[in-house]
Amino acid sequence: MGAFTPTLFVVSGPSGAGKGTLVEQVRSLRPDLGLTVSATTREPRPGETDGVSYHFMSADAFQRMVDEGGFVEWAHVHGHCYGTPVSEVEKNLVSGRSLILEIDVQGALQVKEKYPDAVLVFIKPPSLDVLEQRLRGRGTETEESVALRLANAREELKLADRYDAVIVNDDLACAVKELLSTLECYERK
Ligand code: 5GP
Repeated sequence: MGAFTPTLFVVSGPSGAGKGTLVEQVRSLRPDLGLTVSATTREPRPGETDGVSYHFMSADAFQRMVDEGGFVEWAHVHGHCYGTPVSEVEKNLVSGRSLILEIDVQGALQVKEKYPDAVLVFIKPPSLDVLEQRLRGRGTETEESVALRLANAREELKLADRYDAVIVNDDLACAVKELLSTLECYERK
């Protein structure tokens, strides 16, 4: 096993594939991982806190930050803008921490262009039917939003082969183990 190299990981996959829960569990087992908070123009959901879940911004404020080069990457996702502030990534890299960016596929490919050593990990749902059940089960999405997220999922799944690793999130505990070993494998290669 090689020496530890702080690594920038990008985790993405369709909305409802379970990335959020998976990354949250991996973070609790790897408290050394750096945290980043993305910016978005969408409205907060119940229980979400500004500055913790996201930096919630108006479309104007978001555009100003784009113009000032304040994002490593940004993308339109499900009708809203999402972006990773440069400051959030740099603060971790300068302190020698590995970090996980949990972002959509368009953003992931932009990160790889800027940081060629970044490792892209794709989280797949076991099937599109399971994905649909999970999205409906959340109870937070409108019918229109479920349809949009499913259509986007079909497109995103086509890009899985551009990723360095693919994890199928069927059983959460297995997926957690797999993501943990993927991180370690790249950090110590
Ligand atoms: P949600 O609205 O459900 O929180 O997130 C919707 C989508 O936006 C997810 O697929 C999530 O990965 C993506 N997303 C969250 N933050 C960012 C970001 O900073 N950049 C990009 N490109 N996508 C993001």
